[in-house]
Amino acid sequence: MIEIGNTCNLQCPTCPTPRQKILRKKELMSFSNFILTIDSIKNSIHVVYLYYTGEPLIHPDICKMINYVHQKNLYSIISTNATLLDQKIADELLFSGLDEIILCLDGITQESFSSFRKKADFFEVMRNIGYFCKQKQRLKLKKPFIKLQVILNKLNQNEIRGIKKLSDCLKVDCLHIKSLALCEHVYSKDEIKKLADIFFPDGKEYKDKIRYKQENHKLIINNPPSKCSLAESQFVVLVDCKISMCCYDLNGNYIYGNILAEKFDDIWFNSDVKKVRELANEKKHSLCKVCSNFI
Ligand code: SF4
Ligand code: SF4
Repeated sequence: MIEIGNTCNLQCPTCPTPRQKILRKKELMSFSNFILTIDSIKNSIHVVYLYYTGEPLIHPDICKMINYVHQKNLYSIISTNATLLDQKIADELLFSGLDEIILCLDGITQESFSSFRKKADFFEVMRNIGYFCKQKQRLKLKKPFIKLQVILNKLNQNEIRGIKKLSDCLKVDCLHIKSLALCEHVYSKDEIKKLADIFFPDGKEYKDKIRYKQENHKLIINNPPSKCSLAESQFVVLVDCKISMCCYDLNGNYIYGNILAEKFDDIWFNSDVKKVRELANEKKHSLCKVCSNFI
């Protein structure tokens, strides 16, 4: 996972990025540092997620970056709020070598969509997503794999049938109904309570997608697994090229090293780093104790 930028043009209420919960400097990764990063890690990875805490289409070099990943025979994925996915960028992305795109659409009415994706124009996003999907079909392209993603919440829980119909109509490759998770460690109890009251789904139909239950103003995670493989299978290159333990470490408090200063293998196989990964695998790391993002 590479954080090519840590800013976003939206103000989604459940996201830490616009709520000033990320205390690191707001910036974009330079193209030259991106190249150095890919060159440093390319023999150790298969998949590159070109996003983390920000909207990837904000980066002016996004298509060049994807193309560089493609040239190195690595699988590339972006996830976008689709507000900036106009026809020009859509056409560029379709020919960039991109392997997978996640299009976030969290409602099919202006009311549900706009409450969750604050500052986004519902009709513009629908138009952008429609163009991207139809253009891929018109051009008979096999790639990118298109995943339409819906974060299940109280405001869209009655729209899922409609969203399924829309995804059939758009002929997307996959519809992902995602559980709503909060980065509990960066929110106060009051903030969590407020967000939970507004957004946590309460319908019966998608019970398996509901991540928490509330007990006495506390969030209890439903059926948490005893282990998490995320820190073993992934790492995050932050915007300043430091390597962080996993995507839950929003403020880069658990840094393994810096790609610009050390070789990747020296960082990854360092004995202290190995210990952190082992702890995380058993969910015994302090960050894991407050995490609901496990896999
Ligand atoms: S679009 Fe994504 S990064 Fe931007 S505010 Fe919303 S959830 Fe956060
Ligand atoms: S449990 Fe959470 S913090 Fe720990 S490794 Fe998994 S995702 Fe990261």
